[in-house]
Amino acid sequence: MPPLCLLLLLFACAPAPIPDRHAETRAACDLPAPFVRESSDPGALPPIDDLCVEHLVYDLNISDDVRRSAWAPWVFESLVQLLGRPAGALTEGVALRAPLIQILEDVEARGGGEDVGARLYNLTADRVRGVSLDDGALRVDTREGWRRLDAPPAAGAIDGPSGAGSWVHLAAHGLGPDHVPCPDDGREACDEDWDGALGAEVGALELWSRACDVEAEPGSCALLREARDRQMDWILTP
Ligand SMILES: [Zn+2]
Repeated sequence: MPPLCLLLLLFACAPAPIPDRHAETRAACDLPAPFVRESSDPGALPPIDDLCVEHLVYDLNISDDVRRSAWAPWVFESLVQLLGRPAGALTEGVALRAPLIQILEDVEARGGGEDVGARLYNLTADRVRGVSLDDGALRVDTREGWRRLDAPPAAGAIDGPSGAGSWVHLAAHGLGPDHVPCPDDGREACDEDWDGALGAEVGALELWSRACDVEAEPGSCALLREARDRQMDWILTP
């Protein structure tokens, strides 16, 4: 094969880099260290300033409609949680399995950061291509396709610390097998195994749970554990 073709082939096969958005956005958001945001009600938390919001909007391509909607506080709070939570180390366990570890090792190899929390954020920013409104529902476009979140924000899937896991779930669609019908109600919301979006979400919740300081954030730690256990129930292979 002529050298040029070989070069082109190498170029075509090299995985695309994942930009490290985390570093800049983390700095812009000026979050407390250690990270403490102890409430699932965005109204009860320190406000997220405009510069931080601008960075989050840029990273996930969030529409103006969303910023003006009732979804806004929930969207931005869950993203701040995703941005700021420490995630510790990738040690395999009951709730953190090989597929998510592989995904996050791939993120690191593609330049998406060394810190595990940063990798979760950069994975999400890389895979989510847009967040907009669709007839009152939240529409999240990803590299895989798009999903609607219909639940009203206050009772929805993206509240507080557990909402950070929802972003990882959405980002992981398409990296593994799609959902399958759940045995009890037939909704396409279960995963056959740990290599789907639920395994990624549960693994992320487990990482944040392990790193959560129960003295400083008893409520957030409990929410993370509850969300982890609840979502784990939808994975059909224990
Ligand atoms: Zn899903």
